[in-house]
Amino acid sequence: MHIGILALQGAVTPHFPHLNALGVTFTEVRAVEDLLNIDGLILPGGESSTMLKLIDVYNMKSALADFFKTKPAWGICAGTILMAREVSNPAQFSFNAIDIAVVRNGYGSQLDSFHADINEYPVSFIRAPVIDKIGKDVGVKAEHSGHAIWVEQGNKMATAFHPELTPDYPSPMHQRFLELVQAAKG
Ligand code: GLN
Repeated sequence: MHIGILALQGAVTPHFPHLNALGVTFTEVRAVEDLLNIDGLILPGGESSTMLKLIDVYNMKSALADFFKTKPAWGICAGTILMAREVSNPAQFSFNAIDIAVVRNGYGSQLDSFHADINEYPVSFIRAPVIDKIGKDVGVKAEHSGHAIWVEQGNKMATAFHPELTPDYPSPMHQRFLELVQAAKG
C-alpha cells in the first residue's frame, strides 16, 4: 500500500509517524503525477480556501475529481470541507466526494478549539467544520455534541477533527483508513 498526502498547505508531516507505525509507504502529493501511483489519498487539515486556490494554481482540480470517482480518500477538517457535497459559511467549491453538508468553522473561532476523546483516543478540533447534513448512504462512526464527526461512505472517510496531532501512533482513524484502502485494493 502506498498512501498520498495532499501537501499544498496544512498539517502534512504529523501524519508521517502514524503511517510509519502502520508500516506503509507514503508520498507528498503536490502535482497531478503524484496521484498516479497511490492507493489512497489523505486530504489534511489546514485552510480549505487556501488549498482550493493552490489546487487551481497547480491545475489539479480535474485530476482530483477523477481520483475521487474510484479511489479511497480521507478528509480531515479542511480536507472534509474539500470532499463535502455542500459547503456553507461561506459557500465555496467542493468535490462532492462524500454526501455530507458542512458548515465551516461551525464550532466557533480559533478560541473555541477543543479536544475530545473518541473511544479513549484524544483528538483535536481546530476551527472545525460542523457536519450538519448526512446522505442516506453515509455511515456515522462517531458523534460529538449531537453532530457526526467521523463518517464513511464506500471508500471515502471524513473526520471533522485532527487525530494526527495526537502523539500516540498509530491513531485508530489511520488504522481504519488503511482498512478501506486495503479493501479497495482487493
Ligand atoms: N476552518 C478551516 C477551513 O475552513 C479548517 C480548519 C482545519 O482544517 N483545522 O478550511
